[in-house]
Formats: sequence, C-alpha cells, structure tokens
Amino acid sequence: MDNLITGDLRNIEPLFKLKEFEFYHHDVSRFLHVPGKLDYILHFASPASPIDYLRIPIQTLKVGSLGTHNCLGLAMAKRARILVASTSEVYGDPTVHPQTEEYWGNVNPVGPRGVYDEAKRFQEAMTMAYHTAHGLETRIARIFNTYGPRMRLNDGRVLPAFIGQALRGEDLTVFGDGSQTRSFCYVDDLIEGIYRLLLSDYSHPMNLGNPEEITIAQFAEEIIKLTGTTQKVVYRSLPKDDPTQRQPDIAKAKSILGWEPKVSRAQGLKITYQYFRSLSREEWYRKEHKDFEDYSRRPSVE
Ligand code: UDP
Repeated sequence: MDNLITGDLRNIEPLFKLKEFEFYHHDVSRFLHVPGKLDYILHFASPASPIDYLRIPIQTLKVGSLGTHNCLGLAMAKRARILVASTSEVYGDPTVHPQTEEYWGNVNPVGPRGVYDEAKRFQEAMTMAYHTAHGLETRIARIFNTYGPRMRLNDGRVLPAFIGQALRGEDLTVFGDGSQTRSFCYVDDLIEGIYRLLLSDYSHPMNLGNPEEITIAQFAEEIIKLTGTTQKVVYRSLPKDDPTQRQPDIAKAKSILGWEPKVSRAQGLKITYQYFRSLSREEWYRKEHKDFEDYSRRPSVE
C-alpha cells in the first residue's frame, strides 16, 4: 500500500506478475481496510528525506500520527503483529554519542525537522500504548541513514545528491563545514535487521544501522574517488537544526537479534553507484520526482 507521494511504481514492477502480490494505491492517513487475514503489518509510510518533509510537512505529521493510528487499528482488527519504522531522528541533534535506545533525544518541536521528528516520536508513543493497553504485538525499529539502489537520485539526501552531482559533472555541495557525521547502512543489511526484529519478541525500540561513522566532508571525498569526477567540493550553508553527529549503538540488535551489518561502505557504494550510473541521462537530469498531489484535498473514495 502506497500513495506514491515519494515512491515509484517502477520499483515494484517485477512483483506484479506474482499472484501472491497485491498493491493498493491508498494513503494510510485515511481510513484503512484490507479484506482477509493479515499476519504481519509493516508500517513504513512516510517521507524520509529532509527536503521531502519540508515540502509536505502536514502530510508528514499526518502519516506518522493518523497513519500510525490507522495501522494500529488494522493490526488490532486482524490480530496481526505490527512493526513500525521509526528513525534516528527521534534523537534530534543528539548530545549522547553514540546513540543508545535509552537516550531520550534533543528535538526542536517547532524547527523545520520537527514535523518528521515529532510525528515519529508520537508514532512510538502510540505504538507502545497499543502494546501496553491492548496487548498488541508491536515492534519499533529506529532506522539510521540507509542507502542503496532505487533511491531517488533527486530526493535530496546526501548520497544520491553527491552521486548525481558527480554524474552530471557538477561540484559536490557540502552543507556547513562538513564536520557533521552520519553512519550509512546498506539496504540489504537493514532489511535483514528489520526481518529479524519482526520475528523477535522484543517490543521496545531498537536501533538498526551501521555504526561506521564518517564526516560529510570525508564522505564527499569518498564519492569523488568512487566516481572519478574531476569536480570539486563547494560549501553551502548548513540547514537549520542539522544534527552534528549520528551513530547508532547497536549492542541491543547484536545481542537480541544476533544482527550486525555485513556490507562495508566501499562495497555498498560501489553497487549503488553502478545502479545510478545505469540510469538514463534523462533520469540524471530530472529535477522534480513528480508533481506533488495533495491527497488531503481529494474527495474520499471510501
Ligand atoms: N548534506 C550535504 N550536501 C547535500 C545534502 C546533504 O552536505 O547536498 C548533508 C546534510 O546537511 C546532513 C548530511 O549531509 O548533514 C545528511 O543529510 P541527509 O539529507 O542525507 O539526511 P539526514 O541525515 O540529515 O536526515
């Protein structure tokens, strides 16, 4: 189920020929109904790139809150286990490093990132309340920066931004002085972690990410080496409330799920670069993903 506000049907095209596969074009912020039995629900609906949630702030708040409420209601009705996608953004600009699940975070509720951070914090509170009040089987994954093939080249996040710039022969734009850190997890590792968490019996929030930390300036240098671009790094102003450091403490995932990332950044970046390079020139130069359709203003179809 997807309203395709940031998603792309082409990513799931091969699945349509499977008879076990069904797709609903629907916004989970609105009333949700699925016929038949459900064993598991994985609620991943939300814009996740800062430029997306700045562009569609109200929808971001709605999907984390109302969308989560609808998914929890569906899980109750179907007696299904539900896993919700939370985020390292619940830690805001963290003063504890690396971030453990016990840290409560440092979030500006009315800053530009507040719409995403607070929606996800509300999502966690709501999910935990359904667990304690209704005994619903819930799982909460706090996902750190993740990357891999099929990201949108123009979604604004740092990895597609740098690779896109290198492919088009543009300079790489580092925001601020580039001393802020991130820790990037390859998508296959993350999926394995999510699957193990879903099948575990752990209902408290769990960090999932790759603890290998790097500054954004170093990351730009890595992309320059990887792509062989002759372009240089240029510095742009730092967005407001941009977290200065981010690194998951994954001790819990290691001990409870027996999970840790296996794909190095060098391996993951190589695969991801090959994917972006294989796209058409038209894709490289595409500015807007698609025109934004405001679902909240459309008449209800229920
Ligand atoms: N960033 C950058 N240049 C870009 C895009 C992002 O220097 O063209 C920085 C951004 O300011 C942040 C980091 O890269 O410090 C990661 O940004 P991203 O948007 O990928 O996600 P975030 O981790 O901030 O949610």
